[in-house]
Amino acid sequence: MTDPASPAAPSDAPLQFERAEFTEPRAAPKCALCQRAITGTYFEANGQLLCPSCKDAVEASMTGGSKSGRFFRALAFGTGAAIAGAVLYFGVSALTGYNLGLIAIAVGWGVGAAVRKGSDGRGGRFYQVLAVLLTYLSVCGSLAPDVYEGFSSASDAEATDGAAPEEMPVVFRVIVSGILSLAAPVLVGMESPISLLIYGFALWEAWRRNTRAVLKIDGPFQLAPAGEAPAPESEGKAQEQSVG
Ligand SMILES: [Zn+2]
Repeated sequence: MTDPASPAAPSDAPLQFERAEFTEPRAAPKCALCQRAITGTYFEANGQLLCPSCKDAVEASMTGGSKSGRFFRALAFGTGAAIAGAVLYFGVSALTGYNLGLIAIAVGWGVGAAVRKGSDGRGGRFYQVLAVLLTYLSVCGSLAPDVYEGFSSASDAEATDGAAPEEMPVVFRVIVSGILSLAAPVLVGMESPISLLIYGFALWEAWRRNTRAVLKIDGPFQLAPAGEAPAPESEGKAQEQSVG
C-alpha cells in the first residue's frame, strides 16, 4: 500500500523556515497588574511580574494608608456583604425549602472577600476574626425570620392557653427573636450535623480569605534578550544591556 520510497509526507509544501517569526518573542511578558508589556526592568512580587510603577504602587499600598480607614472600610464592606448574604440565603431557603450549603459557603466567601477588599488586601488575624464574625451574623440573619415565626407562634399558643390572650408587642418579639437568633446557627447545627458542617465551611471560607498578605518582591530584574531566561542583573549593567 504505502511506497517505502516516499515516506508519508504531511504535505508537498516546503518547510517554511522563512515564515516562522522568531524575531518576536512568542509570549511577551506582561505586567500582572496593568497588563502592559514589560520592556527592560521588571520586578517579581510573589511570583508575578510587575512593571516598576506597579511595583511602587503595590509597595505603597502595603505600607502606607490609614489603619482606622482600612478598619472602617472593611467593616462597611463586610457588613454590606453580610446583609446581602443573609437576604440571599434566607430567600433561597424560603423559596426552595432547602438549606443550600453552597449558598452559605458563598456568603462566607463574599463576606471574606469584602472584608479583604476593605483592608486593602492586607488580611491578618484581626480581619479574619471580623470576617468570621460578620459571616456568623449573616447566617443568624438568614435564620432570624424563622426564629421570629417560631417564637411568635409559640408565645401565641401560650397566650391562648392562659386566661388573658394578651398580644405581645411586636417590638418585644423582634428584640427577643433577635437575641435568640444569635444562637440559632448553633441550635440548628445541633439538630442537623450537615448544617453545622455547612456553617463551619462558610466561616472557614471567610477566615481563609483574610490570611495575612505576605508581599515578597524580588528584583529589579532585566528582561533578557529573546530566547534567554530572565536573570537577575545589577541595575547599571542591566541598563546597558537593554539598550544594546
Ligand atoms: Zn504595571
